[in-house]
Amino acid sequence: MTTKAYGAHAADKPLEPIAIERRAPGARDVQVDIAYCGVCHSDLHTVRSEWGGTRYPCVPGHEIVGEVTAVGGDVKGFKVGDTVGVGCLVGSCQRCASCADGLEQYCENGFVGTYNGPTRDAPGHTLGGYSQRIVVDEKFVLKIRHPKEQLAAVAPLLCAGITTYSPLKHWNVGPGKKVGIVGIGGLGHMGVKIAHAMGAHVVAFTTSEGKRQDALQLGADEVVVSRDDKQMRAHRGSFDLILDTVAASHSLDAYSELLKRDGTLVLVGVPEHAHPSPNVANLIFKRRAIAGSLIGGIAETQEMLDFCADKGIVSDIEMIPAQKIDEAYDRMVRSDVKYRFVIDIATVA
Ligand code: NAP
Ligand code: ZN
Repeated sequence: MTTKAYGAHAADKPLEPIAIERRAPGARDVQVDIAYCGVCHSDLHTVRSEWGGTRYPCVPGHEIVGEVTAVGGDVKGFKVGDTVGVGCLVGSCQRCASCADGLEQYCENGFVGTYNGPTRDAPGHTLGGYSQRIVVDEKFVLKIRHPKEQLAAVAPLLCAGITTYSPLKHWNVGPGKKVGIVGIGGLGHMGVKIAHAMGAHVVAFTTSEGKRQDALQLGADEVVVSRDDKQMRAHRGSFDLILDTVAASHSLDAYSELLKRDGTLVLVGVPEHAHPSPNVANLIFKRRAIAGSLIGGIAETQEMLDFCADKGIVSDIEMIPAQKIDEAYDRMVRSDVKYRFVIDIATVA
């Protein structure tokens, strides 16, 4: 079915209206009419080919919410009219050890991303949520239990929410734990909310003095302006976990030295240019670790959505029409986002 979308034809071209084809729903497929789609920094990295390997035309978007408008004959879990989400994954092998563990994002045969992933559908790579409609295997569709009026603000949970929830859960964040969140953008603001809801003592690290009050409102117990050495030094050796969401290359040493013995610095930001090599002594002398984490599996994404619905957590969003995507990207590069842009897909007309 011909579907209107916004996409880019090359790394140096702006996004523009394009027509794409969506397959008719197969037996196990769910067709979703998209209401809103969040704008992740990964969309920008991909559209502008900052990581290399972008296939064009590129239609990004993996923070998708909407309504089911058709289901295949074998679909058990969804029916027409359901409010649903689709996140970063639309496929995986379903046979490897990681898939068996519900960790489809680490699929040993390669997961299928919601955009820029392999598919038999035209044009040979997946096209994401900056579009009116998407057709997805029901295994990769999530149920949304938040009140309907919060739907736009739920969209960013599908990537920013799960990408922060998963490492916070994996590294046992909870009462009695001191947790740092670095970079108060889309991921970071969700990290602050979720770590706070898990009961941890939360310290927000920002380069933007102007985000101090907001970070406290989001749930941070303390805010550190990371350019201020004195403020940084006051936290030396004190963190159980620091989650670094920064989308640009920077020194990791300033954070590794804030960890306790056995503490972990978890990287989720994937900057275009590599971080400088970390100081090894910082790690060795206190058995500290630097780790990474990728989004989350489907079961854990559902768990996160239900956790956020129970706790009344949504994203702080700025709604934009599709025509303003490039402007939103430029603002994101300047760290000028409070705290996630969400596209009103009704404007993709
Ligand atoms: P974002 O909304 O642009 O937020 C990034 C934040 O990092 C900014 O708001 C800013 O916060 C801080 N920052 C930016 N430039 C900086 C610099 N030069 N030095 C220090 N701090 C800087 O981006 P996002 O959507 O949250 O995504 C963040 C990163 O995570 C991206 O690289 C994205 O591709 C990646 N990502 C990874 C996964 C995963 O599974 N691992 C999933 C989604 C996204 P302050 O103003 O507070 O300093
Ligand atoms: Zn994302």
